[in-house]
Amino acid sequence: MSKEVKAWGATSPEKTEPITITRRAPDDQDVSIDIKFAGICHSDIHTVRSEWGKTTYPLVVGHEIAGIVSAVGKNVTKFKIGDHVGVGCMVNSCRQCENCHDGEEQYCFSGTVFTYNSKDPKDGTITQGGYSQHVVVDQAFVLKVPESIPLDKAAPLMCAGITLYSPLNHWKAGPGKRVGIIGFGGLGHMGVKLAKALGSEVTVFSQTNSKKELGLRLGADDYVATSDPDVFSKLSRKFDLIINTVSASIPLELYLSCLRRDGSLVQVGAPEKPLLISPFSLDAQRVGLHGSMIGGIAETQKMLDLCGEKLIFPEIEIIPASYIDEAYERVLKSQVKFRFVIDISTM
Ligand SMILES: [Zn+2]
Ligand SMILES: [Zn+2]
Repeated sequence: MSKEVKAWGATSPEKTEPITITRRAPDDQDVSIDIKFAGICHSDIHTVRSEWGKTTYPLVVGHEIAGIVSAVGKNVTKFKIGDHVGVGCMVNSCRQCENCHDGEEQYCFSGTVFTYNSKDPKDGTITQGGYSQHVVVDQAFVLKVPESIPLDKAAPLMCAGITLYSPLNHWKAGPGKRVGIIGFGGLGHMGVKLAKALGSEVTVFSQTNSKKELGLRLGADDYVATSDPDVFSKLSRKFDLIINTVSASIPLELYLSCLRRDGSLVQVGAPEKPLLISPFSLDAQRVGLHGSMIGGIAETQKMLDLCGEKLIFPEIEIIPASYIDEAYERVLKSQVKFRFVIDISTM
């Protein structure tokens, strides 16, 4: 049977408020989840404010979901009632194309079904995200949260965690590799922790040194302020991999000059303006400029297992649902260390 549940939704680009939504009747493949915590991602704000194309209101956002299984369909083999689970940015995909076959469902050719503001192929409705008490998700898109990860801290791993882990994994960060992380916010601080967990040497590039002490405490080997123009000449040709988490336009050529031969600069932030770089900055040492978007389901599980084993958790601030609009303003001003997590029991 379908179920009415409490949620916190955007009724216009300006406002979120308590609403009621209907979760579909679970089918034989579905897992029913009582949501305990939901992280706030910058994408939530872009979507609520209709900055990334059309948003259908009212809409419940949230794709960093952590909760407990309350029921399973009869064909569900991976999960049982009481399991700690997570749901990230996707809830379905075609499962037949080359990318789905390769476990890269986020790049599905027929269209990934995102956790909110997507059309749900199971019932034709618009998907509603994690700022709500309950969700129904196909078992293929549910993740196991290891017992060693507290549920509140598990939530941000579902987007911020995998967004950084996937490029680190794909470009083989590990012992003997030097990794640079541009930006030290919700994404950047996870990049530092995960790159260290994989055994790399990590440098943070931040505009100022205001969070340097914290950065070093959270595991960075070096932390440099890019307001100092000498930084780039000092770090010339030092890195194997640099991940850019900043969504503002920054001078990418300076960072390309910090890559060793065959190094990679990976964009995970999404600046509004097109990137402008000289081909020479790529030719010089055969370096590459790449993009990366979240990660596949199997890869996300691999990250969660690593975090569970090495006790890698995001730094979070827990908030009640009534604080969401204010939290958005603080995210936009970078006034959060490092991720807001909504306590769903306050809904
Ligand atoms: Zn996100
Ligand atoms: Zn596909």
